Amino acid sequence: MADTTEVSVVSSSRPRNAATSPLSLSGRRGLRRRHKRDRAEVEAGSNGFPCTVRCAIYTRKSTSEGLDQAFNSLDAQREAAEAYVASQKHLGWTTLPDRYDDGGFSGGTIERPALQRLMADIESRRVDCVVVYKVDRLSRSLLDFARIMQLFEQRGVHFVSVTQHFNTADSMGRLTLNILLSFAQFEREIIGERTRDKIAAARRRGQWVGGRPILGYDLDRTAHCLVVNPTEADQVREIFQLYLQLESLTGVAAELARRGWKTKRWITAAGQVQGGRPFDRALLLHLLRNVAYLGKVRHRDEVFEGTHQAIIDQALWDRVHSVLGRNRMTHGAVMRNRHGALLRSLLRCAPCNAAMVQTRTAKRGREYRYYVCTRALKRGYASCPTKSVSAHALEQGVINKLRGLQIEMNSLTTSPIADAAVLWSSEWDSLSGEQRARIVRLLADRVEINGATGGVRLELSREAEELLRPKETA
Ligand SMILES: [Zn+2]
Repeated sequence: MADTTEVSVVSSSRPRNAATSPLSLSGRRGLRRRHKRDRAEVEAGSNGFPCTVRCAIYTRKSTSEGLDQAFNSLDAQREAAEAYVASQKHLGWTTLPDRYDDGGFSGGTIERPALQRLMADIESRRVDCVVVYKVDRLSRSLLDFARIMQLFEQRGVHFVSVTQHFNTADSMGRLTLNILLSFAQFEREIIGERTRDKIAAARRRGQWVGGRPILGYDLDRTAHCLVVNPTEADQVREIFQLYLQLESLTGVAAELARRGWKTKRWITAAGQVQGGRPFDRALLLHLLRNVAYLGKVRHRDEVFEGTHQAIIDQALWDRVHSVLGRNRMTHGAVMRNRHGALLRSLLRCAPCNAAMVQTRTAKRGREYRYYVCTRALKRGYASCPTKSVSAHALEQGVINKLRGLQIEMNSLTTSPIADAAVLWSSEWDSLSGEQRARIVRLLADRVEINGATGGVRLELSREAEELLRPKETA
């Protein structure tokens, strides 16, 4: 029988030896197992060939191949394979009685009952070698073939094709397998490239092609497009506005945390809840830089007109990005200067009993600084009579008021707040914003402004209070 079929040349070494050669597909695990079994059989008193190679014969025939009867019937395939195994009897090969026959199944899929059963038996280590009539009986797909071979390798299982020279127990078979696997890898990469090209093409057409859903939009899964979520869109617009007002990612993140606003929450196709995280600097920056809000779609470095509706207009976007760019270019120096605002942490809006923070805006190339009531920022300007005040005028007013204090200068220079003496010297003008702010904080504990009355109330520090000259009337 072996003469009538084109039996492949099998390596002269026994498969168990092949298992120990570095070229062999059998992993260490397979090797260990084999030794264990060998020992068991030696103990059982077997003769000079203690190693049994349990061969599973796999056959397949698809319905479309029905006409080509010659050697293609399941029985004929099995017969040839059995003859081959018989020819290797001296090496301890035996045919397993189980039949793995897939009649009427395509080789293009691995969803075949007998194949699945074979894989399960390999998993439970009941098979040492798989014998097929032709390689394509196992799989017509290079990718599937590679996957199956991987499982074989992991389990230390050899693979033999009766009519083609393919025996992973020898080096030639190993080489052939490597070539096949390289092609499989190539095919995988080609498929990957095609997918990437498709995504790129879709993005160029302005389509949303997946990725994490973003705040402001819902994903229409059937139409594959973004639909504006009005509530969230309002939030997004306000986040952009807040950044313009506060000019600080940390500041905006803190404000959003106070409001309980979080990142986009959505449910995956698998039913898992995702997102809904509090904003931090990085998430916020990501949001402010997302061109999707302009109704655009980014692919790598290119930006395309999207098919979805914009949430942010170009003017607001440009303003936000000019501030972002400035803060980035100065590496936060502007931020530090900002925090050097003279009345930082001192100024409060009296009617709201809320802190006021410095903001800046640029108009016609000139920069204007303001102190804004944080409650007005949060609840809207209508709720606050103070709203915002020009920083320069207010700061100058506070400095003048402090300079006008009747302070015992001799006592000041020996007091814990001796540094404050610089306020009355010409050196003051050369101080940085941060230094000046520190001096003011030595002298004052609180500055309150009431937008309703226009009044400013200065609350001195305890140390400054003690240095005040007694009133002349006293
Ligand atoms: Zn206020």
